[in-house]
Amino acid sequence: MKTVRNIGIIAHIDAGKTTVSERFLFYSGKEHRMGEVHEGTARMDWQEEEQERGITITSAATTFDWKKTTLNLIDTPGHVDFTAEVQRSLRVLDGAVGVFCGVAGVQAQSETVWRQANEYDVPRIIFVNKLDRVGADFFRVVDDIHEGLGANVLPVVIPVGSEGGLRGIVDLVEMKEFHFSEEDEGRTVTEHEISAETQELAELWRGELLDKVADRSDEVMELVLEDQEVPVDVLRAAIRAGTLDRSWIPVLCGSAFRNKGVQPLMDAVVHYLPAPEERGVVVGVNPHNQKPLERKLDAKEPLVALVFKLQVDSHGELAYVRIYSGELKKGGSYLNPRTGKKERIATIFKMHANQRNAVEKAVAGDIVAVNGLRFSATGDTICEQKSAIVLESLEFPDTVISMAIEPKSSADRDRLLEQLARLVREDPTLNLSTNPDTGQVILAGMGELHLEVVRNRLIRDFKVDAKIGTPRVSYRQTFAGPAREKSRVERQLGGKDQLGEIDIEVIPDDNEKGAAVEWLEDGGLHPDWKRAAEDTITSCLEAGGELGFPFVQVQVKVRVPEQDPEATEIGVSLAVREAFDTIEARAGSVLLEPVMRFQITTPEDYFGAIHQDLLRRRSNVDNVELVQDIRRLSGTVPLAEVFGYTTNLRSLSQGRAAMTLEPVGYAPAPEKVAERFRF
Ligand code: GDP
Ligand code: MG
Repeated sequence: MKTVRNIGIIAHIDAGKTTVSERFLFYSGKEHRMGEVHEGTARMDWQEEEQERGITITSAATTFDWKKTTLNLIDTPGHVDFTAEVQRSLRVLDGAVGVFCGVAGVQAQSETVWRQANEYDVPRIIFVNKLDRVGADFFRVVDDIHEGLGANVLPVVIPVGSEGGLRGIVDLVEMKEFHFSEEDEGRTVTEHEISAETQELAELWRGELLDKVADRSDEVMELVLEDQEVPVDVLRAAIRAGTLDRSWIPVLCGSAFRNKGVQPLMDAVVHYLPAPEERGVVVGVNPHNQKPLERKLDAKEPLVALVFKLQVDSHGELAYVRIYSGELKKGGSYLNPRTGKKERIATIFKMHANQRNAVEKAVAGDIVAVNGLRFSATGDTICEQKSAIVLESLEFPDTVISMAIEPKSSADRDRLLEQLARLVREDPTLNLSTNPDTGQVILAGMGELHLEVVRNRLIRDFKVDAKIGTPRVSYRQTFAGPAREKSRVERQLGGKDQLGEIDIEVIPDDNEKGAAVEWLEDGGLHPDWKRAAEDTITSCLEAGGELGFPFVQVQVKVRVPEQDPEATEIGVSLAVREAFDTIEARAGSVLLEPVMRFQITTPEDYFGAIHQDLLRRRSNVDNVELVQDIRRLSGTVPLAEVFGYTTNLRSLSQGRAAMTLEPVGYAPAPEKVAERFRF
């Protein structure tokens, strides 16, 4: 296991993630041709939609060897609308390479993914890319990463030459200069003595490196104090230790596009990022008693694996699985502790983008794709029947935007629903529902680009013949105040007496994400009837009273002091409905709108105009920074105010500003907005 690295590449869109990945494949010998994003030939962006747009949407996985180490690489998308893809990748990776643009430095999306990587405690190294571009400045970007992201940066290389004159790098650990041949696409790397013009700078940064490392390593400290040479392997081991415990982040640089500095980056992945077993233990809970459990990351332990992604294509369903402990065998039978069902592994594949190689087994540390799973969803654990454990699942934010989908004919409806269900299974940030009044099918997602890509997939890949509405903000509502109602129903229905009694209280609570239903007294109500009552409560909350949006942020307390011996299941459900009608009328409702966290980076020149514009949009700007001549603003803003905002931002900044939007929750909308929905 020591010779495996599970890594991801994270960055702002366009920083060069895919270009870097393509170089990794090429230099490792996995690909014999170099794929280019702008030619639509990048191996990792294999979906049609990705090649046309030149962006990465689904994370692709691939495996290759470098210096006797197997690298499992996951290329992640840069756009926040696909944030779930980034998140689930980070969850199963052991280390990451952060790619930054040598001109733009820290951009909006890099902050978001950086924060996510912090949350998952992922050790990282950094590659400052695009140093061949006009205006690129390695040292400025290093400062920017330090200030903008609060990262303790540790440059382990510096560039030789700059912009068009970028020639190579100096490795500060070996104190050697490296050049990359122009003739063979950078394949030939030559070692040189450090050139005279770079010598002084190299010594300065070597000094900085030793100072920092010595602070953490006694061995290096002693050598430095005794004025002795620090051997390369000692220094590397010390840098590695500090990277793994997240004391610092080694920084490398170059130009992926011009084929400079990539092999040293690959070496750094091997030198500084963790092998799977170095991440410590994997933690979960015992599904029988909810007690915490730990497992060693060892192939000899019982199997523990996490399903982190499902993908449906013409061959059927493929599940991406990270194996933490033990061995997963082809034909093996395992337990999904959430569903309690047994799963049989039909085939196991090592993936290379959309190509697959069947293997007999996979062991702790591996990331593979399997088929044969029938009852498992994204975030589920697969384990040995005899030693069950549930790993922490993945949690995704609520959807904030939706579009209506109407089949052209009712005959198409079933097929449409089936295909939408497939999409939703693949993508846990999509949500499918039916409007109870109109029967319309509603698909909800994370943002405009997200739904646009889904729409194209429906039309192009799934050949769905349907009318797809324009995306709209997904509103919610809550009660304006608490209300309680006791209702008793006695009615003749279908020749039978239906009788039921229930006491329901609603209390708005903005700490509650959805609706929490609690039984304070059940008067010995039959369990089936309790369930029927709960289902009716859920459907009343979803139907959404006057404004027509689902109720959230609410506590529901239910009381049945004593069950009437004559009560019936239908009677109890009817009583629930009656109680809700009264409660909704009495409590009144408040419209809740989705609120987004925004991050904008813009050249200083456009800051004034953008800031003004944001203030007109009911935004809260809570942080403004100036790093060099780049302004960074962040805060919150109602989604309704920034619908289609990227176009606007482009025209305000001549295309130079960038923005990310992420849902943070729901907040009361002003009456002016709510008015539109009241009858
Ligand atoms: P991603 O969105 O992070 O995957 O970025 P891509 O790899 O798709 O790169 C975005 C664009 O920048 C493409 O047109 C690349 O050809 C270009 N690019 C990537 N790396 C470099 C580089 O080192 N120098 C220059 N000049 N362009 C680059
Ligand atoms: Mg890409």
